[in-house]
Amino acid sequence: MIRELDKQYIANTYNRYYPVLVRGKGSLCWDEDGREYIDLAAGIAVNTFGWCDDAWTQAVARQASTLQHASNLYGTVPCVQLAQMLCQKTGMRKVFFSNSGAESNECAIKAARKYAAQKKGGDCFAILTLANSFHGRTLATLAATGQEAFHADFRPLTPGFFHVTPGDIPGLLAAVEAHNPAAIMAEMVQGEGGVVPLAPEFVRAIAAVCRERDILFIADEVQTGNGRTGALYGYMRYGVQPDIVSTAKGLAGGLPLGATLLGEKVQDVLGPGSHGSTFGGNPVCCAAALSVLSRLDDALLAQVREKSDYITAQLSGAEGVLGVSGMGLMLGVETQKSADDVVSACMEQGVLVIKAKNKVRLLPALNIPWEQLRQAVGVLKACCA
Ligand SMILES: *Cc1c(COP(=O)(O)O)cnc(C)c1O
Repeated sequence: MIRELDKQYIANTYNRYYPVLVRGKGSLCWDEDGREYIDLAAGIAVNTFGWCDDAWTQAVARQASTLQHASNLYGTVPCVQLAQMLCQKTGMRKVFFSNSGAESNECAIKAARKYAAQKKGGDCFAILTLANSFHGRTLATLAATGQEAFHADFRPLTPGFFHVTPGDIPGLLAAVEAHNPAAIMAEMVQGEGGVVPLAPEFVRAIAAVCRERDILFIADEVQTGNGRTGALYGYMRYGVQPDIVSTAKGLAGGLPLGATLLGEKVQDVLGPGSHGSTFGGNPVCCAAALSVLSRLDDALLAQVREKSDYITAQLSGAEGVLGVSGMGLMLGVETQKSADDVVSACMEQGVLVIKAKNKVRLLPALNIPWEQLRQAVGVLKACCA
């Protein structure tokens, strides 16, 4: 019934899986037929503490019944407290709130262009990004995305974006010479590109050339952020310091919130009227994010790394598994069978996993209970064989 109405009324942009999910708790969820699933997808890295986590639900309900929206013409408590917490935990200076990953990147791009225009003149506007990257589906972030498949049918693309091959340091330096970029933007682990971490020496080369040339280093932490990689933000695992950090997905644990963290150089570049968002910094979303962020402490992050090691050890060398990539609880499994077949087989066995390109992608809630994790990995392992 819902399935037919979905086909009739929802724009046909998603290759949806069925079942229809109706309820969840922690890392378990149930479909309309009452079937139970262990969830290793967490709404694509969004449900940081799983479904309807008690503390998260209380924070949301409390704020929803106190002040649900005020617009950015007024300050609100959760929004300001969240910005302070983000800055204190990262050393960044100011935060712009929006509603999604793409918007958090749009703000990063605008801030970089304005900084470069003021400092170096109007010819300095290019943004270098990486081949195989994913930065969103708005027209500018589509141009930033280094995958032809996303560009087809939407030309002309927003000008000024150039793509560098990940790992190719001479190529990076040549592109800097050729394009006089305002910024270099990269995901520390390419998520949609197949869960591929960047090589540490390549990330250090980006950071170094940015520092030397006063180019802004933008880390797209939309998927890798908020504890996902076993550090608060993925860049922290590389020992580098970006000028701008964009994040969204897991930030508010299941409500739409994007944040663009602005470092020292760019903290004041976006003056009044230069950017905005009606819903950005919504109090309910920010209260949710405060409850998420305040729990992402060292102990939790250590658990993320431990669970990552467990999954990797279980799957590496297992029958039908060709390799495991990624970082923290953002893992890609290359399988002998097609990823589609493994995803379907897992679903039939009551485990939800998703795909990234040709890999099976795992993005469980950061607090998935060990017992459920063991059980789900056992099912996945069997389905790969
Ligand atoms: C998901 C994602 C985006 C886009 O986020 P939306 O909230 O869908 O706009 C951008 N960058 C990266 C790295 C992502 O994984």
